[in-house]
Amino acid sequence: MEPIRITRATTLKKRPKDSDLGFGKVFTDHMFVMDFQEEKGWYDPRVEPYAPFSLDPAAAVLHYAQSAFDGLKAFRGRDRRVRLFRPQKHLERMNTSAKRMCIPPLDPDLALKSLVTLVGIDRDWVPASVGHALYVRPTIVASEPFLGVRPAHSYIYFVILSPVGAYYPEGMNPVKILVVDTYVRAVEGGVGAVKTAGNYAASLLAAEEAKHAGYTQVLWLDGVHRKYLDEVGTMNIMVKIGDEIITPPLTGAILPGVTRDSALTLMREWGLRVSERQISIDEVREAAHRGTLDEVWGTGTAAVISPVGELAYKGERIAIHGGRIGGLTQRLYDAIVAIQYATAPDTRGWTVDV
Ligand SMILES: *Cc1c(COP(=O)(O)O)cnc(C)c1O
Repeated sequence: MEPIRITRATTLKKRPKDSDLGFGKVFTDHMFVMDFQEEKGWYDPRVEPYAPFSLDPAAAVLHYAQSAFDGLKAFRGRDRRVRLFRPQKHLERMNTSAKRMCIPPLDPDLALKSLVTLVGIDRDWVPASVGHALYVRPTIVASEPFLGVRPAHSYIYFVILSPVGAYYPEGMNPVKILVVDTYVRAVEGGVGAVKTAGNYAASLLAAEEAKHAGYTQVLWLDGVHRKYLDEVGTMNIMVKIGDEIITPPLTGAILPGVTRDSALTLMREWGLRVSERQISIDEVREAAHRGTLDEVWGTGTAAVISPVGELAYKGERIAIHGGRIGGLTQRLYDAIVAIQYATAPDTRGWTVDV
């Protein structure tokens, strides 16, 4: 493995207070960068001072969005030590995303080393207060200046770090969600199952319209029937009806969330009845009418577990758990956060020390 070259920043930035962080607005002193050229493969892995890139205006990513990324977090535990949460799983997914976008994969060991090295150098940036963390954004973009439509011959892999607080200003308060039936996010065979730039650009209009109507996010229905639940914003969705917890299966249109996997793993260990199956918005609505719709929540790295307090569909407002956070939603949040901040033992090998 090629050694990582390290150039340290000569002047360090002033770090904001944890309470001023918000999400993804502040970046640390360093970044990781590595290049790819067809003849050389991936080469020159390095840590450099955080700075703008110079890109040719014809760079393929700027025109055709050939790119892949992921998002994970590093936490400062109660013991003051810094840990990455499930980095191998995130990097494995980034390579899956890369493959779908015709981007050459990264060596998994070098990719993990890029995260550990960079977070290690900027470790003072990892917030210590619960609810705060260092968000880690590994990204690959096509850099070749070429306007034809084909896979590029050169790429840049980079990692940037951002100390973050709550993803939603509401924090752990239940969010109001608009079920959209005018736009769709993805269809099977498309790119909905991978983290690639275009998915997020394509989702903006629906999210903006939902915001104007007073909702925090949208719930996406499946792209074919506009009937089955897919995802909520950029989170996977879980629904508790009676004693069954239901989440849509990984059929190729939804993102295979790491938090989704963590939540499913915990709930199965707790002996709960968990189904990965299609669930229609009508089933949710009927359960609400019968009084058996108990809890709805989203799962994702940014917010971890986000309770849903209300769903609006075709003008009908479906209140969930009286608009308050449900017991299982809270239990899942507490259990995952405890592992992240090392207040509970990590018995599953989910964390990697920095
Ligand atoms: C990232 C993402 C998720 C959540 O994945 P995690 O690995 O749990 O962070 C869910 N849906 C979409 C569309 C995403 O981009």
